[in-house]
Amino acid sequence: MNIYSMTRPKIVAVDGPAGSGKSSICATVCRDLNWSYVNTGALYRAVGLLAGDRGVPLTEGPALSRVLHEFAESARWEHESARLFVGVEDFTPRLNTVEAGNAASCVAKMPTVRDALMPHQRKLSLTAPRGAIVDGRDIGTVVFPDADLKIFMTASLEQRAMRRLKQIEKASGPTEFSHDDIMRAIALRDQQDSQRDSAPMRIADDAIVFDTSHMNLEMAIESLKELLRAKGLVK
Ligand code: C5P
Repeated sequence: MNIYSMTRPKIVAVDGPAGSGKSSICATVCRDLNWSYVNTGALYRAVGLLAGDRGVPLTEGPALSRVLHEFAESARWEHESARLFVGVEDFTPRLNTVEAGNAASCVAKMPTVRDALMPHQRKLSLTAPRGAIVDGRDIGTVVFPDADLKIFMTASLEQRAMRRLKQIEKASGPTEFSHDDIMRAIALRDQQDSQRDSAPMRIADDAIVFDTSHMNLEMAIESLKELLRAKGLVK
């Protein structure tokens, strides 16, 4: 064992498709345990939004490099309030919009973007004072293959669409999108995320599959805490 592994915080990797409940469940478990919650999707969403703001096409490598450079220089994540700033602008209110999700999925296909965001994800997680739950698509397979616990969180497509719709309405008020629209969009996103060449979403060999289709939020939170306790990560 080297110094690094002796001193690093406990890391729990949580991967899974959109709407499986990752962010609500992980954020609450972290708050209750006084751990840090690292939502890596927010980084991809912010890069996609920033590219849009700068008029940069989402699939254009060289121009995206400039956006990534700006992001690296000026992005700031506040652990305490879970807010993401780029320069002086608070990107948090825009992160849960449909536009941000689509832009994220698009830029996430680019290896340059994935490579550039890797150190941010690791730094945010490894500077957690106690432990971190890190959620995304490739955390257990690529970002933290040595995580202390790996979970693949999933739920039926119908449930996921229902949850996503509520999340969008909470973030931006009433929406013109129907449940069916969201279901189609999520199915497309699942396909893009699991079939891309670069770090596709897949279940790590040593991950526990955690299906939240028939759990309400409270049950899912308790079950996740139970898994952490069973692994000896918390008391
Ligand atoms: O988790 P969230 O829905 O915020 O992620 C938005 C998009 O960002 C995903 O659909 C995926 O394409 C991308 N993403 C990723 N790898 C991660 C986190 C998010 O490719 N670790």
